[in-house]
Amino acid sequence: MKTRSKIMLVLLSTTVLFICILLVAQNFNKRQYRYLIDGYRYQQEISSNAILNLQSQKIQQTAYDYTYWDDMVNFVKKPVKIWGDDNVKTILSSFKVNVALVYNLDLKPVYEAYDDSNSDENSFEIKKAIFDSLYKKHFINYFISSPSGLIEISGATVHATNDVDRKTPPQGYFFLAKFWDKEKINELETVTGCKVSYHEASNNFKINIPPNVIQTEIVLKNWQGVPTYHVQFSKKYSLLKVVNNLNYFQIIFIAVMAVIILSIFYLTSIRWISYPLQLVSESLTSNNKISLFRLQRLKSEFRQIGYLIENVNNQKKLLEEEINERKLAVEKLGSRELQLSASLEAADQGIWDWNLETGSIFFDDTWKNLHSFNDNFLKTSFETWEQYINPDDIVIFKQKLNDHLTDTKHLLDVEYRTHSGEKQQKWINCKGRVITFSENGKPVRMIGTVQDVSKRKAFENELEEAKKKAEESDILKSAFLANMSHEIRTPMNGILGFTQILKEPDITKKEQMEYLAIIENSGNLLLNLINDIVDISKIEAGLINVIPSQQSLDDLLDHIYNFFKENTRIKERQIQFTLEKPENNPMQFIRTDKTRFTQIFTNLIGNAIKFTNAGSITFGYTYNNGTLIFFVKDTGEGIATDKQQIIFERFMQAESKGSRLHEGTGLGLAISKAFVELLGGKIWVESQEGKGSTFYFSHPYTERIEENEPVPINIRPAFQFDWSMKTILVVEDVESNYMLIKIILRNTHATLLWAKNGKEAVDAVKLNPAIDIVIMDLRMPVMNGYEATRIIKQMRKDLPVIAQTAYSLDTDKNKSKEAGCDDYITKPINSNEMLMKIQNFFTK
Ligand code: ADP
Repeated sequence: MKTRSKIMLVLLSTTVLFICILLVAQNFNKRQYRYLIDGYRYQQEISSNAILNLQSQKIQQTAYDYTYWDDMVNFVKKPVKIWGDDNVKTILSSFKVNVALVYNLDLKPVYEAYDDSNSDENSFEIKKAIFDSLYKKHFINYFISSPSGLIEISGATVHATNDVDRKTPPQGYFFLAKFWDKEKINELETVTGCKVSYHEASNNFKINIPPNVIQTEIVLKNWQGVPTYHVQFSKKYSLLKVVNNLNYFQIIFIAVMAVIILSIFYLTSIRWISYPLQLVSESLTSNNKISLFRLQRLKSEFRQIGYLIENVNNQKKLLEEEINERKLAVEKLGSRELQLSASLEAADQGIWDWNLETGSIFFDDTWKNLHSFNDNFLKTSFETWEQYINPDDIVIFKQKLNDHLTDTKHLLDVEYRTHSGEKQQKWINCKGRVITFSENGKPVRMIGTVQDVSKRKAFENELEEAKKKAEESDILKSAFLANMSHEIRTPMNGILGFTQILKEPDITKKEQMEYLAIIENSGNLLLNLINDIVDISKIEAGLINVIPSQQSLDDLLDHIYNFFKENTRIKERQIQFTLEKPENNPMQFIRTDKTRFTQIFTNLIGNAIKFTNAGSITFGYTYNNGTLIFFVKDTGEGIATDKQQIIFERFMQAESKGSRLHEGTGLGLAISKAFVELLGGKIWVESQEGKGSTFYFSHPYTERIEENEPVPINIRPAFQFDWSMKTILVVEDVESNYMLIKIILRNTHATLLWAKNGKEAVDAVKLNPAIDIVIMDLRMPVMNGYEATRIIKQMRKDLPVIAQTAYSLDTDKNKSKEAGCDDYITKPINSNEMLMKIQNFFTK
């Protein structure tokens, strides 16, 4: 139902209510009016009755009083006029009656007295029946009518004075009459305050009485007691008129007011409610701008509503825009989610989603794959998770989780190993964060990713190892340099010192020999050192060749034994030096490189002597299943277990740094190991600290083959090339190096040009278009090899450049390639390699 209709309904019901109230009020007023009239009437009746009675009683009392009187009895019997005049006629004036009549028992008038008002019109006659009735009753009071009006007559029988109660028979009759003349009516009107009128009872006339007049009636009876006359008392009450008028006006007033109020209400409701409401509804439903404008111009609260509607409309618009944006965002999010899941899949990342309130965790398929998760769990929780983590990593995991939960600003980032039974263990990187909090800030939901980082971990471990090694070799390098310095200075001191002394003139022959021996010894030490360094360099450069040949095992070992037998230290310390061969000595020959084999034993026995102060040194071999096991056993200081492996690495020594008791460079065992391996065997040690050491090396054994003299492997260039038509530019600042290259290339008959730095090389290429290839050193004064190569390549793009790089320096190789070098050879130069590489470019 529309508001307007509602208002109309309210108006209608209000009108009905008004009418009802009006009716009730009118009814109430009528009742009030009637009560008022009844009250007045009752009062008027009582007072008029009382007044009439009073006046009537006065006549009756007079008639009564004059009729028990002996004189009256006598007067009836013997009427004397004077007595009558004195006593009866005076009643008329004394008691204001109009007629007084005295009758004897014969019903004859004895005395009659009339006042001045008496006329024919009001003469009356007393019937015999009245006398009869009076004789019986002794008293009578009644009304008759005459042409001039009503007459009240009171009669009484005459008795003796002593017969107050009139028990004796009546002696005569006495009547008093009062005319209801004008005077009487005036008196009555004066006393009652009413207008008085009378009419016969049979005369049933009715007059319209005005509403403010109250009329009461008193019935007057004839001699037989029959109501014969009505006396009417009418009185005007102005209050009644007022009340009546008021009543009337009130109703009209209320009705008019009601109409006015309802009309006002109707009109105002249209203007103040219906119209604004209509505007509101139009502005709201059809977004009518004119209605809204009108609404905002109203001078009531609806204006506020108008602004509110405008606000609402604006917000609605914004909201719609926002909803559209959201829709777009949701669509985007959908595609983002797809992208995300695709990229997570591509990155092989798994997802977990943990509800901290319920404790349940969701794991996606990638997560399950990474953790070799079996799907037997109905509900997955943190405890489930724990089962898939390596127990050693749980503590750190929980700690990091706890750290994140107490300070959620920092991401949870933890790595752990999986715990997946027989499956291969993986390293997992787990990242996550709390994304939902409760109202009081408690973490509610956490999500995150997991990723297999096993490869990275392995790489990190390798890196760590490499770093450790690099640090170690750095330490070693320093130790080596310190050693080297010591190892070189000691014999050099000897050589230089004693050479100086030898210069002195007064030196004896014996002293001369002694000093020369020291110088020789020192020289030998230096030579050994240089040999070791050269050997290790060669080993590292891959330049060591073994030349196996048939050797007599006995001869080899005997030679070594004899060499050391005379060693001064052995003699000094009285060390028992023994060669141990298996019984029957079945192995007569061995196919080995004599020099390297001897070198291995020399190193091992040399060390044994160095580290043994007393006891014995035994060396020899055993035979086992096709393999010869050689050994050197001593009762020296022994080697700690943790050092037994590393001593075979170059520059490694078992003693702690800074407390060196023995000379040495830490190269001997490394060289020996390389030689043993080149010969096809292995080397190892068994040792106990303080008790001694036994070094073993295995050597393959082959039955003796009848053969001619062993053919030595030719270390000279194996290739013969004819490059007589070629020109080679060698760029090298060090002359000896150039000389070496010259020797290597000598047999090829190539034309060699020598440039001593990069600049000279650039000039040479500029001047000599005949140059076929360039051998380029990289580190040179004036202009280095890189720059020279770059310029040369700009001039002659196709001219091959082979760089000479320091061995093992990868940076040199890479940089040389960047500069434009076509190939590289490493220093120290391997002649075959160099020849092959040059030939490669010539045949291209
Ligand atoms: P060095 O020139 O220092 O002797 P080596 O490579 O020959 O170099 O030996 C390496 C280290 O091995 C020695 O410095 C020493 O600590 C330990 N070593 C080698 N042989 C023995 C041995 N027979 N007894 C005790 N320690 C030995």
